[in-house]
Amino acid sequence: MLPHLLPHVTAVTEHAIAMALLPILRFPDPRLHTVAKPVAQVDERIRRLVDDMLATMYEADGVGLAATQVDVHERVIVMDTSDTRDKPLVIINPEIVSASTDMLVNEEGCLSVPTIYDRVERHAQVTVRFIDRQGEVCEVAADGLTAVCVQHEMDHLVGKVFVEYLSPLKRDRIKSKMLKKTRDEQVRGR
Ligand SMILES: [Zn+2]
Repeated sequence: MLPHLLPHVTAVTEHAIAMALLPILRFPDPRLHTVAKPVAQVDERIRRLVDDMLATMYEADGVGLAATQVDVHERVIVMDTSDTRDKPLVIINPEIVSASTDMLVNEEGCLSVPTIYDRVERHAQVTVRFIDRQGEVCEVAADGLTAVCVQHEMDHLVGKVFVEYLSPLKRDRIKSKMLKKTRDEQVRGR
């Protein structure tokens, strides 16, 4: 996920050199609608994926990235909603165990839908159970941007992009805009 306004802080991690930046799928790529499978075991392959996803997320100034967005269809999310950009959160096989009835509307963006921001309603608080990078079971009570972000990223894992909450008219406009942007970038040789 991309926040609407994020102070530009460049995250520098010690082992950044060993990590690879992964290409991010762009809406309306049909692969974004793939439903991810649970991770069977947190092994070296998954830890490598997590590290590459974190490097990719920080490089793109995002606050969250789901494996679906890098064309890996397993239930893995990375997030960092801290102002200092130094508190990575690795969320594997997430499940929402409780959600508040009060909702909040937030302006959301997405690394797969660059330059587009729109209002989406989410639960104001959610409690999420997941496995971390070490394979330990964790439970986190999230609110504010973290709650919004985890709901946004979990949608990706079931093949849902935030623009699907918008009207069909808006969604079609966004689709055309993204296709044009991709074409223009290809013309410029990117
Ligand atoms: Zn997203």
